[in-house]
Amino acid sequence: MAYIEMKHSYKRYKTGDVEIIANNDITFEIEKGELVIILGSSGAGKSTVLNILGGMDTNDEGKVIIDGKDISNYNAKQLTAYRRNDVGFVFQFYNLVSNLTAKENVELASEIVADAKDAEQTLIDVGLGKRINNFPAQLSGGEQQRVAIARALSRNPDAILFDEPTSALDPEMVGEVLKIMQDLAQEGLTMIVVTHEMEFARDVSNRVIFMDKGVIAEEGNPEDLFTNPKEERTSEFLQRYLG
Ligand code: ADP
Repeated sequence: MAYIEMKHSYKRYKTGDVEIIANNDITFEIEKGELVIILGSSGAGKSTVLNILGGMDTNDEGKVIIDGKDISNYNAKQLTAYRRNDVGFVFQFYNLVSNLTAKENVELASEIVADAKDAEQTLIDVGLGKRINNFPAQLSGGEQQRVAIARALSRNPDAILFDEPTSALDPEMVGEVLKIMQDLAQEGLTMIVVTHEMEFARDVSNRVIFMDKGVIAEEGNPEDLFTNPKEERTSEFLQRYLG
């Protein structure tokens, strides 16, 4: 059994009379230690997949098996424990607490976790050994996002989900964040990343899932998917992003 399995998962949102099927029969598997990229246009359903995997949202139908347990059956209390202990999340906006230092921000997230990692060490691991006592306003966007990664790492999660982690950064800061993510992948952390960073997807990931209009249109290893996409909509998407 794979470490993460989403099986025939559906998520529908209703606004008045209009129903949007954000996830329409999503099925995939992720092995421990894989770095999987989810690509797709805005509105394709990527964040919905991540939010369900992260226990922040629940699906309407289908299984979400993490390490042998189906979290789609979890009650609120079980989901809280799951979010706290088993999975990390890194968002587009880092949401650090402004009046706490980098170290204090990390400690705040990990103090409720039994097997937390040392806050200073996680900051050293993301290259911020000299910035431990700085406040967020004293850090660049790239550094703040690295604090957010340290914050996720400090809780010693089995997997980290990244939702467009570099989209809010100035271009010159994207590389330093991707470099840390690449290092984490090489260390064997299981990572699922929604991103539009095509080079990163092509060069660093184990597998790419391309979503379109709520479904997985195509998935495969990056080499195949980028050089020889099977679906017309995959090549259209790639042409738009790769030029
Ligand atoms: P992506 O991450 O690929 O941009 P999302 O998963 O955020 O896509 O959204 C998929 C679809 O679901 C979109 O049409 C979006 O407007 C809709 N959607 C997402 N979240 C909600 C919500 N909380 N309420 C209503 N519609 C939503």
